[in-house]
Amino acid sequence: MTDKDHYITDEALRIMERFPEVYGRPPWSVKKTSLAWGFSCGDGWYPLIARLSADLAAIVREDGLTRFRAQQVKQKLGGLRFYARGGNDRTTGRIAQAQMEAARTCEHCGTQPAEKRSLGGWLTTTCDACADRLLTPRT
Ligand SMILES: [Zn+2]
Repeated sequence: MTDKDHYITDEALRIMERFPEVYGRPPWSVKKTSLAWGFSCGDGWYPLIARLSADLAAIVREDGLTRFRAQQVKQKLGGLRFYARGGNDRTTGRIAQAQMEAARTCEHCGTQPAEKRSLGGWLTTTCDACADRLLTPRT
């Protein structure tokens, strides 16, 4: 067993390191922050999370939100959840916009349209093609 300090994928790590205004600075330790799990969602949503992060970083600079910090980014009940503290109406609005965009975007491949479905009891936002692929048993 390796003692892993974080579970962030390389692509999520690149986004997080690019926007310290949003995610703070590394290291992200599992003992200290849920951010150590990276983005707990499909990587189809990474591009919209990257755009969200860029806009949040701009708002943080413009509005002087020195205490803003993302807490956790994950998929819950098929939807994107982006938890942060220290924000204002602009950050809250931008996060809500990203969550609405995620509701129409396949979590697995990033295409639109997509919708929330239950695949064997697992809620996920997916396009038709990914739903078919994920439901096909691999033998
Ligand atoms: Zn898809």
